[in-house]
Formats: sequence, C-alpha cells, structure tokens
Amino acid sequence: MSYMNTTNPQLFQSLVKIGKMVGVFAFVSATLFTMWTPANILVNQNQLVGLPFTDNTMLVVDSDQAASPYQKIGIIVGHHGYAPEGIPDPGAVCPDGLTEVSLNLRIATLLRQDLLQDGFIVELLDEVDPLLEGYEALAVISIHNDTCEFIDNSATGFKVKATYKETNQPELSERLAACVVNRYNTVTGLRYDPRVTDDMTRYHAFEKFAGNTPSVIVETGYMLLDRQLLTEQPDLVAHGLAQGIRCFAYNETINLGQ
Ligand SMILES: [Zn+2]
Repeated sequence: MSYMNTTNPQLFQSLVKIGKMVGVFAFVSATLFTMWTPANILVNQNQLVGLPFTDNTMLVVDSDQAASPYQKIGIIVGHHGYAPEGIPDPGAVCPDGLTEVSLNLRIATLLRQDLLQDGFIVELLDEVDPLLEGYEALAVISIHNDTCEFIDNSATGFKVKATYKETNQPELSERLAACVVNRYNTVTGLRYDPRVTDDMTRYHAFEKFAGNTPSVIVETGYMLLDRQLLTEQPDLVAHGLAQGIRCFAYNETINLGQ
C-alpha cells in the first residue's frame, strides 16, 4: 500500500497517531461494553443490539467479552432431553419412524455451526434444560417442527411466535420474530403460516428466561408436506434461521418487498 510509504515521515507519524486514536476508541468501547450489566441493559439494549455488532471484528471475542451474555445465542432443541416417566419424547412422529426431535437436533446443530462463523457463543439447550431458568442471551430460538399427519393441502409452511412474557422491551422479541420470518422465507422459499398454536403461544420456556432475553419459538416446517426441504436441505433451513438471527443482532433492515 503506497500511502504507508515511510519515506514520508510526517505522513507516517500522522497515520501512527490516527492508529493510536482508533485503538484507544476501540478499547474504550470494548470496556464500556463489558461494563454493561443486566441492571442497566434495559436502558441500553437498543444500542446494544445495533452497535457492537456492526463491526464483525468485535465478534472475535476475547475472554472478557466472552463472559458477556449478550453475544450468546441460545438454541433450544425441541423435545430433546425431555423424558416424562423415563420415556424420551420424540415430538411428532411420521409413520416411517422419522421423529421431530431428530430433525430439530440436526437443524439446531447446523444452525450453531452457521452462527459460530460470526464469533457468537452458541449454546444448544434441552427442552427442559436447567439452564433455561433466568437464561440471559442476545437471543433465544426454540426449534420445533409441525405434525406429520395429513391435515389438508394448506398444511405447509413455517410458524414463528415471539415470547408472550411481558418484558420491559417486548418489541425486541417482536423484532427478532420479524427478522426470522423475513429471512427464513427469503432463504428457504417456504411460506409463513400464521396459524400459531396454543403450544407456541404459551411455550413453557418463555416463562423461564430472564426478562431481557428476546426469544422466539419456530416450527420450521410440516413434517409431511415440507419433508423434502427438512430432510434433504437442513443446511438451508438452518441458514434461514441464522440469517434471521443476524438480521436481529446486526440490526439489519427488513425489506418487506423481498
Ligand atoms: Zn415440537
């Protein structure tokens, strides 16, 4: 790069000075960021969602930043680890033995890999994980899939529901849901199905998270009519969810014309 030519000492000195100023600014920003605590996050969350993630280099976290829950994404693997009376809950089951929990786990694992590329801390959680109590994160997404029974030909598509829990800023969960709907639809081409069930609306885990943790539950598709997408392109399914989370984390624009 010719402008770094050291034969011009004055210019070089200026560049060093600017470099130092940028360095100090980055350090102060990082320090302020790690100083934010859950108590004042309610005030700062709007900035938090937008600013620290606008520069990808900040996502290559050092150990101090890794301690911050706000760069953490929680993924609940629907039905996984839940075993009422000792019998593992498979979720929905197809006649040929395909289980919802196996689909959920595959998609969640791929989603985690996708998000790790950005430097997020990504945790896979069981359906009734003890960690859910008071869980703090930038976002939580619970992955489920819809019934394998034939309902009618309209039983295709995906569903997304934001937490019902009254938090100080419920609009954050709504924003997360809007991001996931928009990006998942764009990436997979699957239609959004607004017929949200009671199980989603009153999802048990929503009650447990810390009040400032934006959260959504997703049915990524119907196991009968959307089976091909779910079983043959789980990476695409996961990427659609990952793009939704990125949209939220980086405060990206949702272009409804897409
Ligand atoms: Zn389920």
